[in-house]
Amino acid sequence: MSAEQPMIADLFEVDKRLTLKPVVDFNSYLRNAFGEGPCSCHRCAEGSDQSSYSHAHTFTFEGRQWHRRFASTAGSDVAQVLKKAWLSYTKADLSLVGALDFTTLKTFTEPALRERLLVLLPASGLAREIDGQWVLQAQAD
Ligand SMILES: [Zn+2]
Repeated sequence: MSAEQPMIADLFEVDKRLTLKPVVDFNSYLRNAFGEGPCSCHRCAEGSDQSSYSHAHTFTFEGRQWHRRFASTAGSDVAQVLKKAWLSYTKADLSLVGALDFTTLKTFTEPALRERLLVLLPASGLAREIDGQWVLQAQAD
């Protein structure tokens, strides 16, 4: 075995922390947070004007319409999976008050799922973007 081989292997080594179960769970949670098609809840089915909602129900991304799965995406639900992934990836507790380190959050969110993350954070009421800074909002649970 030549001495060069381990160096080449290092070059292609991916961030192993991305394979930690809570991080994988967080990404699959994001993937499943939305269902295809517009929202069909009672309110939407009646044709309510969505601009009057405090949180949107139907979203457009990836060139299609999606609805948020309410049963599993309350702010406290998102907070819970995010906290677990954050702890296992960064080895530090995520404070659910104040500014959210979005740069760190992005490092363990699969690129293909970042659009969902950007939609889910405000839609669930967990965080909102204020002047380019993500700020976590207190969860009542
Ligand atoms: Zn709806």
